[in-house]
Amino acid sequence: MKRPSRSVKVTARWALYLVIVLLGAFGAFQMMRSRNFMLFGKIVSRVETDEKVVALTFDDGPTDKTPEVLAALDRAGIKATFFLTGREIETEPDAAASIVAAGHQIGNHSYSHQRFVFKSLSFIRDEIERTDALIRQAGFEGEILFRPPYGKKLVLLPWYLHRTGRTAVTWDVEPDSDPEVVEDSESIIAHVVENVQPGSIILMHVMYDSRAESLKAIEGIVSALREMGYEFKTVSELMEYGSGSR
Ligand SMILES: [Zn+2]
Repeated sequence: MKRPSRSVKVTARWALYLVIVLLGAFGAFQMMRSRNFMLFGKIVSRVETDEKVVALTFDDGPTDKTPEVLAALDRAGIKATFFLTGREIETEPDAAASIVAAGHQIGNHSYSHQRFVFKSLSFIRDEIERTDALIRQAGFEGEILFRPPYGKKLVLLPWYLHRTGRTAVTWDVEPDSDPEVVEDSESIIAHVVENVQPGSIILMHVMYDSRAESLKAIEGIVSALREMGYEFKTVSELMEYGSGSR
């Protein structure tokens, strides 16, 4: 039998290296995007419970839309959770304080809303700590949960969150991320009704003009889910229903 030549062996070895590198890159990509897996620390995308409880969460802001959002929540009679950016709190400090005064929960959505992938530890620390300080200045006293911009995280962010005892919160229902659903408040409501489960964390964006249909959908979502027997909780209240995350 003819022995494989040296060049065939070398080629085979490089092919193997390539496969390992590609698998590693694929794994890192999945890990960065995953809503319920982090290398370190606690991440919650949904609370494991049979009780019909859900949390409505809003990302970004505060902006000049805040009074309209608060009015809709007031009419609906629920408390929600707002993941705000530090930079927008600095621009609209009164809006941030009004969210706290209305009894809603505030979470940290970073200072400048950049992707937290391939960023230095000092950048990550600065983005998180500055925003926590601004949230305290707005008067919020509860636990400050963290939601990564774009839901993206790799190694250093989870490590920093873990080391400082912070919990990352993502979501399991995202009606306004689908370009076809987001066009119309009725389809936003229908998407939530179809996808909600006990313990769900619903992500919405209502702070910009482009999100008028999402803002319009708030009251419809609350009444549709109430008819299904659901109660609305803040994320911290919701987390008390389950010991784990999914
Ligand atoms: Zn965001």
